[in-house]
Amino acid sequence: MTNSYWPLVLDTLKQEVSAAVFRTWFSNIEYLKIENTGHKIVLEVPSGFNKKYLQNKYQKILLNAINRFYPRVIHIDFEVSKKVQANNEEQEDIFQNYNSKTDTKNQDFSNLKKDLEYKKSQINLNGNQLKNKNINYLNSKYSFQNFVELSCNRLAVSVAKAVLENPGKSYNPVFLYSGVGLGKTHLLQAIGHEILSTRPEFKIKYSTCENFFNLFITSIQNKNSKDFAEYFRSVDILLLDDVQFLAGKEATQEAFFHTFNELHQKNKQIILTSDKPPKHLIGLTERLVSRFEWGIVIDILKPDLEDRISVIQAKVKQQQIPLSQIQITKIARAVDTNFRDIEGVLNRLKARIDLLPDKPLGESELDSVLSGYESGSIVKINLSPNATTNLSPNNIVAKVCQSYAITKEEIFGKSRIQNVAEARQVAMYFFKSKLEFSYPAISKFFKRDHTTAMHAFKKIETRIEKDKHFKQRLQGLF
Ligand code: ADP
Ligand code: MG
Repeated sequence: MTNSYWPLVLDTLKQEVSAAVFRTWFSNIEYLKIENTGHKIVLEVPSGFNKKYLQNKYQKILLNAINRFYPRVIHIDFEVSKKVQANNEEQEDIFQNYNSKTDTKNQDFSNLKKDLEYKKSQINLNGNQLKNKNINYLNSKYSFQNFVELSCNRLAVSVAKAVLENPGKSYNPVFLYSGVGLGKTHLLQAIGHEILSTRPEFKIKYSTCENFFNLFITSIQNKNSKDFAEYFRSVDILLLDDVQFLAGKEATQEAFFHTFNELHQKNKQIILTSDKPPKHLIGLTERLVSRFEWGIVIDILKPDLEDRISVIQAKVKQQQIPLSQIQITKIARAVDTNFRDIEGVLNRLKARIDLLPDKPLGESELDSVLSGYESGSIVKINLSPNATTNLSPNNIVAKVCQSYAITKEEIFGKSRIQNVAEARQVAMYFFKSKLEFSYPAISKFFKRDHTTAMHAFKKIETRIEKDKHFKQRLQGLF
């Protein structure tokens, strides 16, 4: 049995869970072996804690992904890595003692408690993070050399270049947003690499907001919040990724607010990324949102066919994947979502080609890889470009209410009258499909729980698929 499929299993998981969950729980699993004539897979995990967590929470998702490539497996055996076992036992202790430590001593941080609750549910604590002061977590893959300039990202690239020439002086802050997988992190880190090589005297810090949040919480626990403040406020350039993650985490927002002010006052460059423009970020305080708009707000657009072809060509060349121009165009047509999905397809194709190098990739094989994307992609409601640029939460609510002849109070209210309930579901559908709101964000906006938002989206999506008139009606809304 071979482990060549393991990267494909990881790839599948990547599509199914959030990036943070993937990184925390799946990215560090190692494939060891297949036993029992293919019925058992043995995996290595970094700690007993990971093992327990995977078994309790992600066993099913993991097994499903495994079965796509190892269909006979019915049992997963987790082995805890010997290398890091000692270190992690300590970590588990911290995790277990965590409740008692935090609850009593931080009563003056009422917001912090909420942030802690969140953290407890999400993340494995690591008390040593602040010690790694000088690690920038920059991925060498995310350089300018590997970043293809396209019509969808031209503006973002030109702003990045202006900042590189004049850090802190041209635009400050820079707020870059786009849908997932369109290159925000890549561009942000490319700026980091460029500064490191052209201005070695500059102190830069790249951090995801998730990491910012983790460090903040850990610093409070370890009573070294001064170190935390110092750590982020002593830089010349702060690159902060995924600010939407701070939504609802008020104490962390407060900490960031002070960091922001201090850096901005000293003309230190701040670059932020997010999945939405500042105004659409729900759960962020008004004063942060307004600061995000002080400098320049730019977006990376959805790539058109030409952009997608250019990226595929660059990646195929770089990774030496033998694909013809016709195949490249076919992939670009089928995968019209984002570059991450494109990379996923290329990885699968590369794995297949590496596995059987002498057998040319057949048309039907390519089709079967692509079919997942065509059938799996969201049924689309196409709006005119003009409508898309004017789309905002309020605008959607207003249009839907108008179309269903109901009031705003009704759409936000509790009524289950069919007409009102459907209007609410349609609005939720547009929040997800057009504004790319997460389910928790939608549920917050409509004051419902997030399974309601999920249910609404699925219901409307299915109906659009089946009911042409309904689809036309929605298309005509804007
Ligand atoms: P985001 O942060 O917007 O979700 P990423 O920066 O993680 O997106 O990009 C997703 C993947 O697509 C990454 O592997 C990245 O290298 C690749 N990518 C994105 N934009 C480009 C580009 N313009 N040229 C080459 N690769 C890109
Ligand atoms: Mg990113």
